[in-house]
Amino acid sequence: MQRITILGATGSIGVSTLDVLARHPDQYQVYALSAHSKVEELAEQCARFRPARAVVGSADAAARLTVLLRERDLRTQVEHGEAALCSIAASADTDTVMAAIVGAAGLAPTLAAARAGKKILLANKEALVMSGQLFMDAVHEHGATLLPIDSEHNAIFQSLPQSYARQPGAAGVAKILLTASGGPFLNRAVETLEHVTPDEACKHPNWVMGRKISVDSATMMNKGLEVIEAHWLFGAPAALIEVVIHPQSVIHSMVSYVDGSVIAELGNPDMRTPIANALAFPERIESGVAQLDLTSIGTLQFYKPDFARFPCLALAFESLEAGGTAPALLNAANEVAVQAFLERRIGFRDIDRVIARVMHENPHEAASSIGAVMACDARARAAAGSIVAGLAR
Ligand code: NAD
Ligand code: MG
Repeated sequence: MQRITILGATGSIGVSTLDVLARHPDQYQVYALSAHSKVEELAEQCARFRPARAVVGSADAAARLTVLLRERDLRTQVEHGEAALCSIAASADTDTVMAAIVGAAGLAPTLAAARAGKKILLANKEALVMSGQLFMDAVHEHGATLLPIDSEHNAIFQSLPQSYARQPGAAGVAKILLTASGGPFLNRAVETLEHVTPDEACKHPNWVMGRKISVDSATMMNKGLEVIEAHWLFGAPAALIEVVIHPQSVIHSMVSYVDGSVIAELGNPDMRTPIANALAFPERIESGVAQLDLTSIGTLQFYKPDFARFPCLALAFESLEAGGTAPALLNAANEVAVQAFLERRIGFRDIDRVIARVMHENPHEAASSIGAVMACDARARAAAGSIVAGLAR
Protein backbone atom coordinates (compact mmCIF):
# COMPACT_ATOMS: atom_id res chain seq x y z
CA MET A 1 0.00 0.00 0.00
CA GLN A 2 1.46 3.38 -1.06
CA ARG A 3 0.43 6.22 1.27
CA ILE A 4 -0.04 9.50 -0.59
CA THR A 5 -0.08 13.20 0.20
CA ILE A 6 -1.60 15.47 -2.44
CA LEU A 7 -0.49 19.10 -2.26
CA GLY A 8 -3.10 21.04 -4.25
CA ALA A 9 -5.82 18.35 -4.20
CA THR A 10 -8.62 20.63 -5.44
CA GLY A 11 -6.75 21.77 -8.57
CA SER A 12 -6.83 20.28 -12.03
CA ILE A 13 -3.89 17.93 -11.34
CA GLY A 14 -5.13 17.11 -7.83
CA VAL A 15 -8.56 16.06 -9.10
CA SER A 16 -7.01 13.94 -11.89
CA THR A 17 -4.73 12.29 -9.31
CA LEU A 18 -7.68 11.36 -7.08
CA ASP A 19 -9.48 9.99 -10.16
CA VAL A 20 -6.57 7.60 -10.82
CA LEU A 21 -6.23 6.65 -7.12
CA ALA A 22 -9.94 5.83 -6.90
CA ARG A 23 -9.44 3.17 -9.58
CA HIS A 24 -6.89 1.31 -7.41
CA PRO A 25 -8.06 1.40 -3.77
CA ASP A 26 -6.12 -1.81 -3.05
CA GLN A 27 -2.78 -0.16 -3.97
CA TYR A 28 -3.05 3.46 -2.81
CA GLN A 29 -4.25 5.14 0.34
CA VAL A 30 -4.62 8.91 0.76
CA TYR A 31 -2.72 10.16 3.83
CA ALA A 32 -3.27 13.92 3.47
CA LEU A 33 -4.88 16.48 1.16
CA SER A 34 -4.36 20.23 0.81
CA ALA A 35 -6.33 23.07 -0.74
CA HIS A 36 -5.89 26.81 -0.53
CA SER A 37 -9.45 28.12 -0.24
CA LYS A 38 -11.92 25.66 -1.83
CA VAL A 39 -13.11 24.14 1.45
CA GLU A 40 -16.37 22.66 0.11
CA GLU A 41 -14.49 20.69 -2.56
CA LEU A 42 -11.91 19.60 0.01
CA ALA A 43 -14.63 18.43 2.41
CA GLU A 44 -16.15 16.30 -0.39
CA GLN A 45 -12.73 14.81 -1.12
CA CYS A 46 -12.22 14.05 2.59
CA ALA A 47 -15.59 12.28 2.70
CA ARG A 48 -14.61 10.15 -0.26
CA PHE A 49 -10.92 9.41 0.48
CA ARG A 50 -10.81 9.60 4.31
CA PRO A 51 -7.35 11.22 4.75
CA ALA A 52 -5.81 11.45 8.23
CA ARG A 53 -4.98 15.14 7.70
CA ALA A 54 -6.24 18.09 5.62
CA VAL A 55 -4.43 21.43 5.22
CA VAL A 56 -5.90 24.75 4.04
CA GLY A 57 -4.50 28.26 3.54
CA SER A 58 -5.93 30.22 6.47
CA ALA A 59 -7.37 29.93 9.98
CA ASP A 60 -10.72 31.04 8.59
CA ALA A 61 -10.70 28.29 5.93
CA ALA A 62 -9.68 25.77 8.61
CA ALA A 63 -12.64 26.80 10.79
CA ARG A 64 -15.05 26.41 7.87
CA LEU A 65 -13.57 23.03 6.91
CA THR A 66 -13.83 21.81 10.51
CA VAL A 67 -17.57 22.57 10.53
CA LEU A 68 -18.09 20.77 7.18
CA LEU A 69 -16.16 17.71 8.35
CA ARG A 70 -18.06 17.59 11.64
CA GLU A 71 -21.37 17.64 9.72
CA ARG A 72 -20.09 14.61 7.80
CA ASP A 73 -18.91 12.87 10.98
CA LEU A 74 -15.30 12.74 9.71
CA ARG A 75 -12.26 12.63 11.97
CA THR A 76 -9.74 14.17 9.53
CA GLN A 77 -7.36 16.49 11.41
CA VAL A 78 -7.57 20.06 10.05
CA GLU A 79 -4.51 22.33 9.91
CA HIS A 80 -3.50 25.46 8.04
CA GLY A 81 -0.46 27.33 6.74
CA GLU A 82 2.92 26.61 5.21
CA ALA A 83 4.40 24.72 8.17
CA ALA A 84 1.44 22.30 8.04
CA LEU A 85 1.96 21.81 4.28
CA CYS A 86 5.62 20.99 4.91
CA SER A 87 4.58 18.61 7.68
CA ILE A 88 2.17 16.55 5.52
CA ALA A 89 4.84 16.46 2.76
CA ALA A 90 7.58 15.20 5.08
CA SER A 91 5.58 12.99 7.47
CA ALA A 92 6.86 9.49 8.24
CA ASP A 93 3.29 8.32 7.53
CA THR A 94 3.48 9.16 3.81
CA ASP A 95 5.54 7.52 1.04
CA THR A 96 4.62 9.58 -2.00
CA VAL A 97 3.92 13.29 -2.44
CA MET A 98 2.04 14.71 -5.42
CA ALA A 99 3.38 18.28 -5.70
CA ALA A 100 0.48 20.03 -7.49
CA ILE A 101 0.28 23.45 -5.86
CA VAL A 102 0.52 26.18 -8.51
CA GLY A 103 3.39 28.67 -8.41
CA ALA A 104 6.08 29.63 -5.92
CA ALA A 105 3.78 28.68 -3.02
CA GLY A 106 4.65 25.05 -3.81
CA LEU A 107 8.39 25.45 -3.26
CA ALA A 108 8.63 25.03 0.53
CA PRO A 109 6.46 21.88 0.85
CA THR A 110 8.00 20.25 -2.25
CA LEU A 111 11.47 20.92 -0.85
CA ALA A 112 10.33 19.47 2.50
CA ALA A 113 9.33 16.27 0.67
CA ALA A 114 12.75 16.14 -1.02
CA ARG A 115 14.59 16.61 2.28
CA ALA A 116 12.51 13.80 3.80
CA GLY A 117 13.57 11.48 0.96
CA LYS A 118 10.05 10.95 -0.40
CA LYS A 119 8.92 9.76 -3.79
CA ILE A 120 7.90 13.09 -5.38
CA LEU A 121 5.50 13.29 -8.31
CA LEU A 122 6.42 16.76 -9.58
CA ALA A 123 3.71 18.81 -11.31
CA ASN A 124 4.73 22.14 -9.71
CA LYS A 125 7.29 23.23 -12.32
CA GLU A 126 7.67 26.70 -10.78
CA ALA A 127 9.53 25.23 -7.76
CA LEU A 128 12.16 23.70 -10.03
CA VAL A 129 12.43 26.83 -12.19
CA MET A 130 13.08 28.99 -9.11
CA SER A 131 15.59 26.83 -7.34
CA GLY A 132 16.74 24.15 -9.82
CA GLN A 133 20.23 23.40 -8.52
CA LEU A 134 19.27 23.63 -4.84
CA PHE A 135 16.20 21.46 -5.36
CA MET A 136 18.08 18.78 -7.33
CA ASP A 137 20.87 18.81 -4.71
CA ALA A 138 18.27 18.18 -1.97
CA VAL A 139 16.76 15.32 -3.99
CA HIS A 140 20.14 13.62 -4.41
CA GLU A 141 21.46 14.34 -0.92
CA HIS A 142 18.38 12.87 0.79
CA GLY A 143 17.76 9.98 -1.61
CA ALA A 144 14.39 11.26 -2.80
CA THR A 145 12.89 9.91 -6.03
CA LEU A 146 11.72 12.54 -8.51
CA LEU A 147 9.20 11.54 -11.18
CA PRO A 148 7.95 14.14 -13.67
CA ILE A 149 4.21 14.70 -14.07
CA ASP A 150 4.38 17.47 -16.66
CA SER A 151 3.31 15.51 -19.75
CA GLU A 152 6.36 16.54 -21.82
CA HIS A 153 8.83 15.63 -19.10
CA ASN A 154 7.05 12.40 -18.34
CA ALA A 155 7.29 11.58 -22.07
CA ILE A 156 11.03 12.41 -22.10
CA PHE A 157 11.49 10.33 -18.96
CA GLN A 158 9.78 7.39 -20.71
CA SER A 159 11.86 7.94 -23.87
CA LEU A 160 15.24 7.99 -22.14
CA PRO A 161 17.09 4.74 -21.37
CA GLN A 162 16.77 3.47 -17.79
CA SER A 163 20.57 3.71 -17.56
CA TYR A 164 20.46 7.42 -18.40
CA ALA A 165 21.48 8.78 -14.94
CA ARG A 166 21.50 12.43 -16.01
CA GLN A 167 24.38 12.11 -18.48
CA PRO A 168 22.79 12.86 -21.85
CA GLY A 169 26.16 12.68 -23.65
CA ALA A 170 26.95 9.24 -22.29
CA ALA A 171 23.49 7.95 -23.24
CA GLY A 172 23.90 9.06 -26.88
CA VAL A 173 21.21 11.74 -26.65
CA ALA A 174 21.51 14.26 -29.50
CA LYS A 175 18.45 16.41 -28.71
CA ILE A 176 15.48 16.61 -26.40
CA LEU A 177 12.52 17.59 -28.58
CA LEU A 178 10.02 19.37 -26.33
CA THR A 179 6.67 19.55 -28.07
CA ALA A 180 4.29 22.51 -27.60
CA SER A 181 0.72 22.88 -28.80
CA GLY A 182 1.25 26.60 -29.41
CA GLY A 183 -1.85 27.33 -27.30
CA PRO A 184 -5.01 29.16 -28.37
CA PHE A 185 -3.21 32.00 -30.19
CA LEU A 186 -0.90 30.02 -32.48
CA ASN A 187 -2.54 31.34 -35.66
CA ARG A 188 -4.28 34.49 -34.45
CA ALA A 189 -3.19 37.82 -36.03
CA VAL A 190 -0.40 39.13 -33.76
CA GLU A 191 -1.74 42.71 -33.66
CA THR A 192 -5.05 41.46 -32.13
CA LEU A 193 -3.25 39.83 -29.15
CA GLU A 194 -3.20 43.19 -27.37
CA HIS A 195 -6.96 42.86 -26.73
CA VAL A 196 -7.63 39.18 -25.95
CA THR A 197 -9.62 38.45 -22.78
CA PRO A 198 -8.70 36.11 -19.90
CA ASP A 199 -11.42 33.66 -21.01
CA GLU A 200 -10.02 33.56 -24.57
CA ALA A 201 -6.51 33.00 -23.19
CA CYS A 202 -7.73 30.18 -20.93
CA LYS A 203 -9.48 28.31 -23.75
CA HIS A 204 -6.73 25.79 -24.51
CA PRO A 205 -7.33 23.73 -27.67
CA ASN A 206 -6.24 20.36 -26.18
CA TRP A 207 -5.88 20.46 -22.38
CA VAL A 208 -8.20 21.48 -19.52
CA MET A 209 -5.98 23.06 -16.85
CA GLY A 210 -5.87 25.65 -14.07
CA ARG A 211 -6.09 29.30 -15.15
CA LYS A 212 -2.48 30.27 -14.46
CA ILE A 213 -0.94 27.48 -16.56
CA SER A 214 -3.58 28.11 -19.25
CA VAL A 215 -2.43 31.73 -19.62
CA ASP A 216 1.18 30.48 -19.56
CA SER A 217 0.29 28.21 -22.49
CA ALA A 218 -1.21 31.14 -24.41
CA THR A 219 1.99 33.23 -23.97
CA MET A 220 4.14 30.08 -24.34
CA MET A 221 5.80 30.99 -21.04
CA ASN A 222 4.67 27.50 -20.07
CA LYS A 223 7.05 26.06 -22.68
CA GLY A 224 9.77 28.40 -21.47
CA LEU A 225 9.32 27.17 -17.88
CA GLU A 226 9.36 23.61 -19.25
CA VAL A 227 12.70 24.18 -21.03
CA ILE A 228 14.16 25.21 -17.66
CA GLU A 229 12.40 22.26 -15.98
CA ALA A 230 13.91 19.85 -18.55
CA HIS A 231 17.35 21.38 -18.03
CA TRP A 232 17.25 20.51 -14.31
CA LEU A 233 15.39 17.20 -14.47
CA PHE A 234 17.56 15.69 -17.20
CA GLY A 235 20.85 17.57 -16.73
CA ALA A 236 20.55 18.87 -20.28
CA PRO A 237 22.18 22.14 -21.41
CA ALA A 238 19.86 24.65 -23.12
CA ALA A 239 21.50 23.94 -26.50
CA LEU A 240 20.33 20.31 -26.28
CA ILE A 241 16.66 21.29 -25.85
CA GLU A 242 14.61 22.17 -28.92
CA VAL A 243 11.00 23.37 -28.85
CA VAL A 244 8.80 21.93 -31.63
CA ILE A 245 5.24 23.18 -32.19
CA HIS A 246 2.88 20.22 -32.56
CA PRO A 247 -0.72 21.51 -32.44
CA GLN A 248 -2.38 18.10 -31.89
CA SER A 249 -0.56 17.37 -28.56
CA VAL A 250 -0.53 13.65 -29.42
CA ILE A 251 3.24 13.30 -29.23
CA HIS A 252 4.04 14.50 -25.72
CA SER A 253 7.78 14.93 -26.42
CA MET A 254 10.70 13.03 -27.96
CA VAL A 255 14.35 12.13 -27.50
CA SER A 256 16.57 12.15 -30.57
CA TYR A 257 19.71 9.95 -30.44
CA VAL A 258 23.09 10.21 -32.20
CA ASP A 259 22.35 7.12 -34.31
CA GLY A 260 19.33 8.86 -35.88
CA SER A 261 16.68 7.12 -33.74
CA VAL A 262 13.90 9.23 -32.27
CA ILE A 263 11.88 7.80 -29.37
CA ALA A 264 8.55 9.43 -28.54
CA GLU A 265 5.67 8.90 -26.12
CA LEU A 266 2.21 9.34 -27.64
CA GLY A 267 -1.25 9.36 -26.15
CA ASN A 268 -4.49 11.24 -25.80
CA PRO A 269 -3.92 14.59 -24.05
CA ASP A 270 -5.10 13.63 -20.55
CA MET A 271 -2.94 14.20 -17.46
CA ARG A 272 -4.13 10.93 -15.92
CA THR A 273 -1.60 9.13 -18.17
CA PRO A 274 1.56 10.75 -16.74
CA ILE A 275 0.02 10.65 -13.24
CA ALA A 276 -0.64 6.89 -13.48
CA ASN A 277 2.79 6.35 -15.03
CA ALA A 278 4.57 8.09 -12.16
CA LEU A 279 2.39 6.56 -9.45
CA ALA A 280 3.02 3.00 -10.59
CA PHE A 281 6.55 3.35 -12.04
CA PRO A 282 8.13 1.01 -13.07
CA GLU A 283 4.83 -0.94 -13.31
CA ARG A 284 1.80 0.16 -15.37
CA ILE A 285 -1.74 0.70 -14.09
CA GLU A 286 -4.98 1.71 -15.75
CA SER A 287 -5.61 5.45 -15.74
CA GLY A 288 -9.08 5.78 -17.24
CA VAL A 289 -7.62 7.35 -20.41
CA ALA A 290 -8.97 5.92 -23.68
CA GLN A 291 -6.51 4.11 -25.95
CA LEU A 292 -5.08 6.34 -28.69
CA ASP A 293 -6.77 5.91 -32.08
CA LEU A 294 -4.23 7.25 -34.58
CA THR A 295 -6.42 6.63 -37.63
CA SER A 296 -9.12 8.93 -36.25
CA ILE A 297 -6.48 11.67 -35.76
CA GLY A 298 -4.99 11.16 -39.22
CA THR A 299 -2.50 14.03 -39.36
CA LEU A 300 0.28 15.17 -37.05
CA GLN A 301 1.87 18.57 -37.78
CA PHE A 302 5.14 20.16 -36.67
CA TYR A 303 6.44 23.75 -36.89
CA LYS A 304 9.28 25.88 -35.59
CA PRO A 305 8.25 28.29 -32.80
CA ASP A 306 7.96 31.99 -33.67
CA PHE A 307 9.88 33.88 -30.96
CA ALA A 308 8.50 37.24 -32.12
CA ARG A 309 4.91 36.05 -31.58
CA PHE A 310 5.89 34.48 -28.25
CA PRO A 311 8.46 36.77 -26.56
CA CYS A 312 7.97 34.94 -23.23
CA LEU A 313 9.62 31.87 -24.73
CA ALA A 314 12.69 33.94 -25.67
CA LEU A 315 12.77 35.50 -22.18
CA ALA A 316 12.78 32.05 -20.58
CA PHE A 317 15.73 30.88 -22.71
CA GLU A 318 17.49 34.15 -21.83
CA SER A 319 17.00 33.53 -18.10
CA LEU A 320 18.33 29.98 -18.38
CA GLU A 321 21.46 31.24 -20.16
CA ALA A 322 21.92 33.95 -17.49
CA GLY A 323 21.60 31.35 -14.70
CA GLY A 324 21.65 32.04 -10.93
CA THR A 325 18.47 33.74 -9.75
CA ALA A 326 17.49 34.92 -13.27
CA PRO A 327 14.85 32.15 -13.70
CA ALA A 328 13.44 33.04 -10.24
CA LEU A 329 13.09 36.68 -11.41
CA LEU A 330 11.35 35.49 -14.58
CA ASN A 331 8.99 33.20 -12.66
CA ALA A 332 7.99 35.76 -10.04
CA ALA A 333 7.39 38.51 -12.62
CA ASN A 334 5.32 36.07 -14.66
CA GLU A 335 3.15 35.06 -11.68
CA VAL A 336 2.40 38.71 -10.84
CA ALA A 337 1.74 39.67 -14.48
CA VAL A 338 -0.53 36.66 -15.16
CA GLN A 339 -2.54 37.36 -12.00
CA ALA A 340 -2.94 41.01 -13.07
CA PHE A 341 -4.04 39.90 -16.55
CA LEU A 342 -6.56 37.42 -15.10
CA GLU A 343 -7.93 40.28 -12.95
CA ARG A 344 -8.12 42.46 -16.10
CA ARG A 345 -5.72 45.06 -14.69
CA ILE A 346 -3.30 44.73 -17.65
CA GLY A 347 -3.55 43.49 -21.23
CA PHE A 348 -2.28 40.19 -22.60
CA ARG A 349 0.79 41.69 -24.30
CA ASP A 350 1.66 43.56 -21.11
CA ILE A 351 2.58 40.19 -19.58
CA ASP A 352 5.80 39.89 -21.59
CA ARG A 353 6.52 43.63 -21.15
CA VAL A 354 6.35 43.34 -17.35
CA ILE A 355 8.60 40.27 -17.32
CA ALA A 356 11.19 41.82 -19.67
CA ARG A 357 11.37 44.99 -17.55
CA VAL A 358 11.71 43.07 -14.27
CA MET A 359 14.46 40.90 -15.76
CA HIS A 360 16.38 43.78 -17.33
CA GLU A 361 16.01 46.28 -14.48
CA ASN A 362 16.89 43.91 -11.61
CA PRO A 363 20.27 42.24 -11.22
CA HIS A 364 20.39 38.48 -10.80
CA GLU A 365 22.90 36.81 -8.54
CA ALA A 366 24.12 33.36 -7.56
CA ALA A 367 21.30 31.11 -6.31
CA SER A 368 23.37 30.25 -3.26
CA SER A 369 20.57 29.36 -0.85
CA ILE A 370 16.79 29.04 -0.69
CA GLY A 371 16.86 32.27 1.34
CA ALA A 372 18.62 34.07 -1.55
CA VAL A 373 16.09 32.68 -4.04
CA MET A 374 13.12 33.71 -1.88
CA ALA A 375 14.59 37.22 -1.40
CA CYS A 376 14.98 37.51 -5.18
CA ASP A 377 11.39 36.27 -5.63
CA ALA A 378 10.13 38.95 -3.21
CA ARG A 379 12.12 41.73 -4.96
CA ALA A 380 10.85 40.64 -8.38
CA ARG A 381 7.24 40.57 -7.14
CA ALA A 382 7.55 44.09 -5.74
CA ALA A 383 9.15 45.35 -8.98
CA ALA A 384 6.50 43.64 -11.12
CA GLY A 385 3.75 45.00 -8.86
CA SER A 386 4.84 48.60 -9.39
CA ILE A 387 5.21 48.13 -13.17
CA VAL A 388 1.70 46.63 -13.26
CA ALA A 389 0.37 49.57 -11.24
CA GLY A 390 1.93 51.98 -13.74
CA LEU A 391 0.43 50.15 -16.72
CA ALA A 392 -2.99 49.84 -15.07
CA ARG A 393 -3.21 53.62 -14.54
P1 NAD B 1 -4.98 24.73 -10.33
O1 NAD B 1 -5.04 26.21 -10.28
O2 NAD B 1 -6.09 23.98 -10.96
O3 NAD B 1 -4.79 24.15 -8.84
C1 NAD B 1 -3.84 24.68 -7.97
C2 NAD B 1 -3.90 24.02 -6.60
O4 NAD B 1 -2.97 24.70 -5.75
C3 NAD B 1 -5.27 24.11 -5.91
O5 NAD B 1 -5.51 22.92 -5.19
C4 NAD B 1 -5.11 25.28 -4.95
O6 NAD B 1 -5.90 25.14 -3.80
C5 NAD B 1 -3.64 25.20 -4.59
N1 NAD B 1 -3.08 26.52 -4.29
C6 NAD B 1 -3.19 27.66 -5.04
N2 NAD B 1 -2.53 28.67 -4.44
C7 NAD B 1 -2.00 28.18 -3.30
C8 NAD B 1 -1.22 28.75 -2.24
N3 NAD B 1 -0.86 30.05 -2.26
N4 NAD B 1 -0.86 27.95 -1.22
C9 NAD B 1 -1.21 26.65 -1.19
N5 NAD B 1 -1.95 26.05 -2.17
C10 NAD B 1 -2.33 26.81 -3.20
O7 NAD B 1 -3.57 24.37 -11.04
P2 NAD B 1 -3.21 23.07 -11.89
O8 NAD B 1 -3.55 23.30 -13.32
O9 NAD B 1 -3.68 21.84 -11.20
O10 NAD B 1 -1.61 23.13 -11.82
C11 NAD B 1 -0.89 22.76 -10.66
C12 NAD B 1 0.59 22.69 -11.00
O11 NAD B 1 0.79 21.64 -11.95
C13 NAD B 1 1.14 23.96 -11.66
O12 NAD B 1 2.44 24.17 -11.21
C14 NAD B 1 1.14 23.64 -13.13
O13 NAD B 1 2.14 24.32 -13.85
C15 NAD B 1 1.42 22.14 -13.12
N6 NAD B 1 0.91 21.42 -14.29
C16 NAD B 1 -0.42 21.36 -14.54
C17 NAD B 1 -0.91 20.71 -15.66
C18 NAD B 1 -2.39 20.60 -15.93
O14 NAD B 1 -2.78 19.89 -16.88
N7 NAD B 1 -3.27 21.23 -15.17
C19 NAD B 1 -0.01 20.10 -16.54
C20 NAD B 1 1.35 20.18 -16.26
C21 NAD B 1 1.81 20.83 -15.13
MG1 MG C 1 3.42 20.50 -19.93
